[in-house]
Amino acid sequence: MEKIFDLIVLGGGPAGLTACLYARRFGLEVLLIEKLTLGGTINLTDRVDNYPGFPEGISGKELGSLLADHCQSYEAETVYDEVKRVAFENNSYFLEGEFNIYQAKSLIYCTGTKPKTTGIAGEDKFYGRGVSFCAACDAYMFKDKEVAVIGGGDSAVVEAIYLASLSNKVYIIHRRNQLRAVKSLQDKLVKMENISIVWNSIPLKIIGEKEVAGLEIKNVKTEEIAFIPIKGVFIYVGETPQTELIKNLVNLDENGYILTDEFMQTSTPGLFIAGDVRKKPFRQIVTAVSDGAIAAFSAYHYLEEIKK
Ligand code: NAP
Repeated sequence: MEKIFDLIVLGGGPAGLTACLYARRFGLEVLLIEKLTLGGTINLTDRVDNYPGFPEGISGKELGSLLADHCQSYEAETVYDEVKRVAFENNSYFLEGEFNIYQAKSLIYCTGTKPKTTGIAGEDKFYGRGVSFCAACDAYMFKDKEVAVIGGGDSAVVEAIYLASLSNKVYIIHRRNQLRAVKSLQDKLVKMENISIVWNSIPLKIIGEKEVAGLEIKNVKTEEIAFIPIKGVFIYVGETPQTELIKNLVNLDENGYILTDEFMQTSTPGLFIAGDVRKKPFRQIVTAVSDGAIAAFSAYHYLEEIKK
């Protein structure tokens, strides 16, 4: 690609879409690069109940499309490509995708996170055939069946509640005796009669021949091993930041999240970070869009500065 953009925004989730929208409003020539679908991982969330302005809640997919439509109303150039390499040379960013090389004077990196795996036996073998990281995508396969959800955070609880609306029975397997999820979600959870929480327990292996037949778990207090007959296992044990492409250009914290200042700025000039991939105290859609707006503001001021 010959054109040199003012700014490339890498990642079309809430942070990236908002960064684009603001950058266009600042009059920047922006290229948005997204690998798959605009909206990002919220497309995979059944319901979002905490995004301001939607008192009845909204489906993740619908919110994703609204954010994308709003961004595209500012006519940011958009390409669908998977970036394999990012280089910073002569004050320019070069992003090498499968189809093209893209160049800009600044970069907002908002690639988010990917789900962590448990590493237990059967997780790989049954992935896509009973093991899933996405209830919104796969819950329909377990209509009127029994399933297990691993984890005790917001994701595990949100998705367990969704699964309970379709499945016969949902077991939440949590390694402690207290959920990490926010209280409002816990309050919803206790009202669901077909959800049981198995406390102080970790999964050991997923058992089955051609399809999942059950889950072996261990109580970490009593060391007791138990078998739960289920057909599906949904894994929500946290997220890993996707920093691979720029890890030589930034500083990371001990968990691999990218360090920025309050302007979303990294240690490399013209490189800004927004959304869940950034080290921050609270990962929510509302904080991702806030990061995106601030990163665009900072990119605009950076570009003004280098013009001088
Ligand atoms: P998370 O908050 O990191 O929770 C991960 C859960 O998995 C924890 O309960 C953890 O147990 C458990 N866990 C971790 N490793 C495990 C292992 N190897 N085996 C068994 N259990 C394990 O991750 P998340 O729920 O995906 O949420 C990620 C971020 O997105 C959070 O900031 C969350 O607030 C946000 N989010 C928000 C919403 C919402 O507001 N509606 C919805 C989804 C996600 P411990 O509790 O013992 O550590």
